[in-house]
Amino acid sequence: MNQEKLIEKSSQYLWLPFTQMKDYDADPLVIESGEGVYLRDIHGKEYLDGYSSLWLNVHGHRNEEINHAIKEQLDKIAHSTLLGASNIPSILLAEKLIDLSPEKLKRVFYSDSGATSVEIAIKMAYQYWQNIGRPEKQKFITLKNAYHGDTVGAISVGKVDIFHRVYKSLMFHSLVAPFPDVYHHPDLDDADEIRDRCLQELEEILREYHHEIAGMTVESLIQGAGGMNIMPKGYFKGVEDLCRKYNILLIVDEVATGFGRTGKMFAVEHEGVQPDIMTVAKGITGGYLPIAATLTTEEIYEAFYDDYNSLKTFFHGHSYTGNQLGCAAALANLEIYKRENLIEKTQEKISIIENLLKPLKQHPHVGDIRQLGMICGIELVIDKESKKPFEWEDRVGYHTTLKMRELGMLTRPIGDTIVFMPPLAANEEELREMVSIMSEAIEMTT
Ligand code: PLP
Repeated sequence: MNQEKLIEKSSQYLWLPFTQMKDYDADPLVIESGEGVYLRDIHGKEYLDGYSSLWLNVHGHRNEEINHAIKEQLDKIAHSTLLGASNIPSILLAEKLIDLSPEKLKRVFYSDSGATSVEIAIKMAYQYWQNIGRPEKQKFITLKNAYHGDTVGAISVGKVDIFHRVYKSLMFHSLVAPFPDVYHHPDLDDADEIRDRCLQELEEILREYHHEIAGMTVESLIQGAGGMNIMPKGYFKGVEDLCRKYNILLIVDEVATGFGRTGKMFAVEHEGVQPDIMTVAKGITGGYLPIAATLTTEEIYEAFYDDYNSLKTFFHGHSYTGNQLGCAAALANLEIYKRENLIEKTQEKISIIENLLKPLKQHPHVGDIRQLGMICGIELVIDKESKKPFEWEDRVGYHTTLKMRELGMLTRPIGDTIVFMPPLAANEEELREMVSIMSEAIEMTT
């Protein structure tokens, strides 16, 4: 089909997620193919995948091994239901996930997106307390600026005002504790002090409400869509300690951070946190197919294990839960991690990125560079000294990423924070090119 026709049809028929379609219509983009860390549009223009196709891609596009695993599985079967019947790739993947994840986690419940894995975590925690005779534990506590996906349960523990306020009356109420946001803190700048104060405030809430709280949801070590804000050292462990002290389930969201993104297989490992429930998605298939999982402990699993008539069954499932093609892709993906010692190799990339980003720190409109492994946020401000943001209406972040696109790299901003999250496979030259494009675009738009 003619390229212009395709573009026209994309505007005529599609409604893109998290996209103001007026923006899309002004600058439409139709991707046709990909290779390694490059994406190619229908005009043949190439773009570096600076956001790993929304924080998922690990080994690059068209990885032969993952492609082959999917094709091989396709010749056996594409999908059969996991409701009441298992399948081979889902069993093998569950074993692998349990091997890789923190020790306490022993069971895998599949779904197909990060949001559904969180939705499941919430329902699982809620029903767990009912099943063990503590039905009064129904509330959830979350952190200011948290993002856990877009389904109604996930937004109920989400606290990014701009995304969530419109749905307020649709959501269940959750308690909110402050996030130790070091760069944006209104009156403190010492990370330890901010950590201690936030933990104190969290404890005050838990002390008062713990009898009614089922669980606490928390993104692992870094808030992603809330602006790439990294927890100060010790905060995450402090949260875990408080959850234990007040008998609250710790639900850790590793959707964005899992599978090596932060330099460890899971970000919980940085502080030795042991979640009661952990959600994973995105990188699980290397960014190839929609598989997600909610991992939990044997103790929680056993609370659901009984005669059917007790009605302790976990009444949750999706048509494509445990899809064979997705599980086969995930198995191939994880095999590459093991064979290539990928987590080890990622350490070098992390240092390369750190060095490449250093000069950007000097830029008069770069307020802060936050990096956790291969997750980076570059926050643009009008005034570095006072940290004064650009006018919201100016959409400096958006225009910077549009400029980057012109220069040959794709990413999306979070407000005026530019997300830089390359595939783990990106080599030094590609990383250098990405940072160079980002710097040039920042120079042109600020
Ligand atoms: N949780 C976190 C921490 C995320 O960053 C995201 C997506 O960015 C989600 C959940 C939702 O994942 P999905 O978009 O696959 O539903």
